[in-house]
Amino acid sequence: MSRFPYLDEYEVHRTMPEEGTSRQEILTMMSDMSSRENVVWEDGRCSGTMYCGDHEHYDFLNQAFSNFSYVNTLQRDMCPSATKFEAEIIAMTLDMLGASALKDRQPGGLVTSGGSSSIAHAVLAYREGNPSVTRANMIKPETAHPAFAKAGHLFGVDMKIAPVDPVTLEVDLEWVRESIDANTVALIGSAPNYGYGTVDPIAELGAIALDRGIGLHVDGCLGGFLLPFGRELGYDIPAFDFTVPGVTTMSADTHKYGYALKGTSVLAFADHSLRNSQYFYLTDWSGGKYCSPGMDGSRSGGLLAATWAAMVSLGRAGYRRYAKAIFETSAAMQDAILSHPSLRLMGTPSFLFSFTSDEYDIYLVNDFLRTKGWRMNGQQYPNAIHMAVTRPQTQPGVVERWTSDLADAVVYATAHKDEPAKSGAIYGGVAGGMSAEADEFIRAVMADMMDHQASVPLA
Ligand SMILES: *Cc1c(COP(=O)(O)O)cnc(C)c1O
Repeated sequence: MSRFPYLDEYEVHRTMPEEGTSRQEILTMMSDMSSRENVVWEDGRCSGTMYCGDHEHYDFLNQAFSNFSYVNTLQRDMCPSATKFEAEIIAMTLDMLGASALKDRQPGGLVTSGGSSSIAHAVLAYREGNPSVTRANMIKPETAHPAFAKAGHLFGVDMKIAPVDPVTLEVDLEWVRESIDANTVALIGSAPNYGYGTVDPIAELGAIALDRGIGLHVDGCLGGFLLPFGRELGYDIPAFDFTVPGVTTMSADTHKYGYALKGTSVLAFADHSLRNSQYFYLTDWSGGKYCSPGMDGSRSGGLLAATWAAMVSLGRAGYRRYAKAIFETSAAMQDAILSHPSLRLMGTPSFLFSFTSDEYDIYLVNDFLRTKGWRMNGQQYPNAIHMAVTRPQTQPGVVERWTSDLADAVVYATAHKDEPAKSGAIYGGVAGGMSAEADEFIRAVMADMMDHQASVPLA
C-alpha cells in the first residue's frame, strides 16, 4: 500500500501531543503542504475536481466562512443570519433552475453537504412521500451517478438500471416506459452525467413521469450552475429544469460550478410537500424535542455564509462569464480530439467530454498524457477517458498545450498499439464483476485512506 504522506518531513502523531504545538508552526506546515499540493492542478491539467481555482475568490470565501465557522445552524434562535443565507441560497437556486414556471405549486429546497447527500435526500423523500409503497424502486439510466445506487442501498430503494445506447449514450426510453411498475416512485435523468457529459432527454422522461403519475429527479449536481448559463449564451442545450413538465426534484452542487467551498449542494423541489415528507423529528425524547430538516444534525453556519457569498458576489453575470470561457475551452479541446481520425467522442457532450478509440486502447493515450502532467478520469465498457473542463483549463495556453500533447499521445498510442496500457491496469482487477480478490483489494484501498497501519505501525 502507499507510503504514509509526509512521513519523512513532518512528525507523525500516533497519540495526541501532551503539550500543544505552536499555532505558527502548524500554519506554516499547512501552508507548505497546500501550496505543494496546489501545483498539481493550478496549471489546468487536472480534469474536474478544482472547479474554480481562483485563490482570490477562495480567500474571500474563507473570510465569509470565518464569521460563522463555529456557528451551529441547528440553533436557529442564535443565528438568524443562517436562516437568511440558507433561504436565499435555495431561492436563488430555484429561480436559476426555472422554478418560476411552477404556477400552482410552492417550490422548496434543502441545502445539503454535497451531491451525494442531495441525491440521498431525494431518494429518501420519494420513499417517504409514497407511504403506500412497501418496497419502492426508481429507474436510473446506467450513466447516472453511483450516488443513486448508494442511496438506494442505504434506504432500501431498488434502482432499476435502464440501458443506454453504446454510441449516443441516450437512455432507452422504451425500456424505461415498460419497466415502470406499481412500486416505481420516480425516474432519474442527468443534466449532464458525470461520465460522458451528455444530457438525458429530460422532456421525454418528464412526459413519461407525468403520464404515470410518478416523480422525476434531474441530477444537475454537475451542470446545475453551468447549463442554465450555457443556454443563455445560446448553446444548443435542451431544457432540463423546472420549466420541463414532470420534473419534481433537481440537485445542483454549489461546491462544484457554484464556486462555493466544498461541503454544500442544493436539492430543489418543485413542491415543498415532497421535501417536508422526509423530515425527521422526535418529540418524546427525554433530552427534549428534536427536529432537523435533513440527515445532518449540527452543521456549520460558515458553509452557508460562504455559499451565499459566492452566489451574491459573482452574480448571474459572473457565472455567465465563467460559463462562456468553460464552454469555449471545452469546444476547442473537443476540436483537437475530432482532428484525429483514430479518436472518437462519446455521444454529444457538453462542457465535459469523453473519448475513446476503435483502433487502440485509449488508456495508451492516457499513459502518455500522464507523463505530460495531465490527470484524466478513466472509464470502462468501453474503455474511455474523460475531461471535465473547469476554470483552470480556461487559462491562456492550456488549450494549445492540450492540442499538442494529445497529438503526441496519438502518435505514442499508435506506435504501442500491441502493448498493454499501464493506466488500464487499475481497472483490470474489477473488470467483469467482483471477484473475492477485487473485493479485498477495494476494501484495502479504502482503509488505506484512513489508517496509519500501511507504513506507520502503531506502537
Ligand atoms: C459530483 C456528482 C455527484 C455526487 O456529488 P458529490 O458532491 O461528489 O457527493 C452526483 N452526480 C453528478 C452528475 C456529479 O457530477
